[in-house]
Amino acid sequence: MILNNVNTITGTGPVNIQLKNGQIVAPGSNAPADALQLTFDNALAFPGLVNSHDHLDFNLFPQLGDKIYNNYTEWGNHLHANYQNEIAAVLKIPLALRVSWGIFKNLLCGVTTVVNHGEPLAINNAPINIAQCHSIHSVGFEKLWKVRLNNPLKRKLPVVIHVGEGSDEVSGTEIDRLINWNLLKKKLIGVHGVAMTGAQAKKFEALVWCPESNYFLLDKTAPADDLKKHTTILFGTDSTLTGSWNIWNHIRLARKTKMLTDPELYRSLHPEGAAWRYTSGGNRPAIVVAKRKSEGSSLDVFFATDPADILLVVHEEQIRLFDDSLLDQLGQLDLSRFSKIYINGACKYVQGDLPGLMANIKEYYPEAVFPVTAS
Ligand SMILES: [Zn+2]
Repeated sequence: MILNNVNTITGTGPVNIQLKNGQIVAPGSNAPADALQLTFDNALAFPGLVNSHDHLDFNLFPQLGDKIYNNYTEWGNHLHANYQNEIAAVLKIPLALRVSWGIFKNLLCGVTTVVNHGEPLAINNAPINIAQCHSIHSVGFEKLWKVRLNNPLKRKLPVVIHVGEGSDEVSGTEIDRLINWNLLKKKLIGVHGVAMTGAQAKKFEALVWCPESNYFLLDKTAPADDLKKHTTILFGTDSTLTGSWNIWNHIRLARKTKMLTDPELYRSLHPEGAAWRYTSGGNRPAIVVAKRKSEGSSLDVFFATDPADILLVVHEEQIRLFDDSLLDQLGQLDLSRFSKIYINGACKYVQGDLPGLMANIKEYYPEAVFPVTAS
């Protein structure tokens, strides 16, 4: 596949690029004559985003909670005491449907790798990479965390765990307990780390920063400006229980904090394999092309993106999503694999039956609110 006349993050003007074996290269003279060619006007191409923390099955929840909490256990207990009906209504939806929506949520935003936290899910033929890892929920909510952390059969797998999700002292000491109980010295990937110090961060292979979720729950986020000196910072959204469905809102909020520089924030969304190379379904390259909505540097344009601006998502050399404006150029594509949807008035074709899925979910949960419509 050859993409003509696109801007890139590091380039200084429009170029033609070729997708070859999942890599982005300059089109060589050996490009097959019948390769699909798409020509863009005023567009930016970049590798698909990596969302390093989500719970795919929790993305039909509205944001739950109505105050600022000291830590995640206080929030969790408050939810179970006050939102029983809201929780039960969503959990009534079969798991497979909830997970399918979680995958669409990510794809519609141009996320082509999502790291799911929780029990491994049976997912086949997903249109994006689903990375599953050795997840432990947290020190507070998983009774057998010490046993699971020190499971010798999983010695080589990094452990991914919510940790330090709070602004109080308990949240800080919880991180020390985790570090001290890591008897096999497994690689730790922490999620949230709001209470984390630089000295603690050194003990982690990476920290997944989820600022929007943190501000919603705690009105405070991890000191990423300090932690970045001691560990790798990855970016995550968490589920819609604590944040918007749209990762681009999370990214712009993160940018406003100025805790990471623009190139650092960009890299947190495009980690170079290190942290997730141990997971199943890791990070195979994929590309996104989006409309250039604003002037300025490529990174300014990148950070201004929204799902409505996404023109093309390619994953494993397959088109997973495209904008209506490319329809004429995609004459030979089998449209029966795609469904037509609208995001903020912009018409997109997405692989799979999204309108059917939304209708199916509404049979179980009529209150479901989707950010897309079928007509
Ligand atoms: Zn989480």
